[in-house]
Amino acid sequence: MKIGKLVPKYAPKIFTYCEQHPGESKNLMDAEYSNRIFGVNFPFCMESKAIEHVANNRRFWAKTYTVCGKTVRVTNNWFANSKPKFVQYLIDKNIINETGATDLLQSINTSNPQHVHKAEQKSSYSNKRYRKPAIGDSQNGFVRSILGNLGNESFSDSDWIEVKKSFGQKCVYCEEAKVLVMDHAVPINRTHLGEHRLGNLVPACKECNNEKGGYMDYREFLSSEPKRLNKIEEHMHKHKYTPLKDQENFEQMQEVIKLAHEELNPLSKRYIKILNAMRVEKNIN
Ligand SMILES: [Zn+2]
Repeated sequence: MKIGKLVPKYAPKIFTYCEQHPGESKNLMDAEYSNRIFGVNFPFCMESKAIEHVANNRRFWAKTYTVCGKTVRVTNNWFANSKPKFVQYLIDKNIINETGATDLLQSINTSNPQHVHKAEQKSSYSNKRYRKPAIGDSQNGFVRSILGNLGNESFSDSDWIEVKKSFGQKCVYCEEAKVLVMDHAVPINRTHLGEHRLGNLVPACKECNNEKGGYMDYREFLSSEPKRLNKIEEHMHKHKYTPLKDQENFEQMQEVIKLAHEELNPLSKRYIKILNAMRVEKNIN
């Protein structure tokens, strides 16, 4: 289960825990505590009436919960790497046991679960470094590399500097003047098929970039901000970028990318087999 589904599923249990330990509800409304415990950039939850700032408003799910007499909303600012921390928290608070934790973590670990040793799955929440590199990571990298090399457009640092200037040195999503990173308005992955083209590159603050991640394209992310959305489309138009999504044969192209993604899996197994056959296991007694 993805972290974005896991948090809402366990939020009621966390708030039940808070009813018995009121100090914890205060902790969860603290940004520093939430960052340390979960790696998120916002408090785990905030009182509904305190979430007034529009930019912050988008960082909390609309659903409300009642905890210790307060009506709160939970942050939606979760990333995949917060998952082990969140699961660890559920264990620490006795909301789930270690077996439950293993089950929860198994579902994200890899697209190829039969290749991950049980013991490693179990240890993944206590020490991520023990995780084997998953083929899924390479498959996603492979897809990004294909999509990133389509066409023959080239651009340089100075073009990117110009793009940031054209957006007033502000994040295109929240319009705040923060440290800016490159965001692909249409994410480069097998679902969205974004490309690494200047017209698809927009400046974003780290928070918006993380929140939007590979899950949403700019249209979904800015569905309630048509003016900001228009600015991005003007930028795309100016740099002659048309998302593949808008092409008639988009679904066929998605199928092709899916094939590339799948083809890497047997290829990696073949080489693992070859190298395993060449390996000599030494018995050290
Ligand atoms: Zn932003």
